[in-house]
Amino acid sequence: MKFNTALLHNNFQSESSTGATVMPVYQVSAFSHDSPETLEKIFNNKAPGFAYSRISNPTVDSFEKRIAALEKGIGAVACSSGMAAVTMSLLGILKSGDEVIAGSSLFGGTIDLFGDLKAFGITTKFVDDFTTEEIEPLITEKTKAIFTELIGNPRLDVVDIESVSSLAHRYGIPLIIDSTTATPYLIHPIDYGADIVVHSTSKYINGSGDAISGVIIDSGNFKWDGTKYDFAVKYKKYGKYAYLTNLRNGIWRNVGCCLAPMNAFLNSIGLETLGLRMERLCDNALRLAEFLSGFDDIEVNYPALPDNKYYPLVRKQFKGKGGAILTIRTGSKKRAFSLMNNLNIPLVATNIGDVRTLVIHPSSTIYAHSSEQQKISAGVYDDTIRISIGIEDIDDLKEDFRQAIEKSKEEN
Ligand SMILES: *Cc1c(COP(=O)(O)O)cnc(C)c1O
Repeated sequence: MKFNTALLHNNFQSESSTGATVMPVYQVSAFSHDSPETLEKIFNNKAPGFAYSRISNPTVDSFEKRIAALEKGIGAVACSSGMAAVTMSLLGILKSGDEVIAGSSLFGGTIDLFGDLKAFGITTKFVDDFTTEEIEPLITEKTKAIFTELIGNPRLDVVDIESVSSLAHRYGIPLIIDSTTATPYLIHPIDYGADIVVHSTSKYINGSGDAISGVIIDSGNFKWDGTKYDFAVKYKKYGKYAYLTNLRNGIWRNVGCCLAPMNAFLNSIGLETLGLRMERLCDNALRLAEFLSGFDDIEVNYPALPDNKYYPLVRKQFKGKGGAILTIRTGSKKRAFSLMNNLNIPLVATNIGDVRTLVIHPSSTIYAHSSEQQKISAGVYDDTIRISIGIEDIDDLKEDFRQAIEKSKEEN
């Protein structure tokens, strides 16, 4: 099946008892069973079934199966947020004393999380350019995970996933990819050697900005070595399902960061139009990037522009599509604010992957608590505006940016 057909039909099951064409919202906490024997079996993974929605729920299960198939994984665990998914993807395998290597242009919340993990004895080494040349010298006996995004937000640097995954595997380290900004429309990271894929499904998968959620997908390909990863001994009998079973029976369940059934329902519906939206979003982003490049005093960063440093990788990995985020530099913070104040269509909001165009000044918001060095590593300057493109008609967006740029010039 091709992409859009697969979104609708791959692992899709209508609700069997009624034939409802979308999986309904099972808004319920517990599931009753005919006997204590049955519940005992369910609790011990000896029979299929549902017991309690913190552990599993039919609406959530249906979403997990669809997204696992979409990303070509063997299974998925849905989480209450993208941050919960990032956290659990790591805490499922790490222990005190371990090290992680990560990109310095990661999503701000993830950078903060790595700071929080220091209190638990987990250290992160950051690299500015996520290349094998920079990563390899940092690998030690203690390195237990390599973590990155494929399109850094907002720096919009693109990672060559094939070369990084072969390096990671040479050292017996799993590669965890946060593919939120790339989306399954641009790439299936597992095809390029990613071992674990996470998404903040709050963004493009949901698509309408109406539910916070995240998901962890396992490729099932990584050979977990019991001498390095404690869980691999305990869950050995689950074979390639060891990583997911460890999450489901361990820290993910016990932290309680389950996805709410209603949010799983909204995501399943959003998922079905991912292809249509991404096609439009990538097209709009490219056309706006080209249009804004025509202004002498505006500097545009968008990976699918032919003069962009990452254009060759965009062609190689993403079929030439650049995703739905672009940034511009305006010369000063004052002008950036004035431009944003003069825009009529975009909303000023801290999100990406909405149907509406959103703009934000990252330096004074998402990165307000970051050091100057962290800001530069993330591609955030005082005059940077991040644009998360929407599905509006491109002519309306162009005209709106044109008049706002003109007015901001006069006001400056
Ligand atoms: C938004 C985002 C997250 C965090 O997701 P939430 O759903 O907001 O918790 C993680 N990674 C990336 C790349 C994101 O854009």
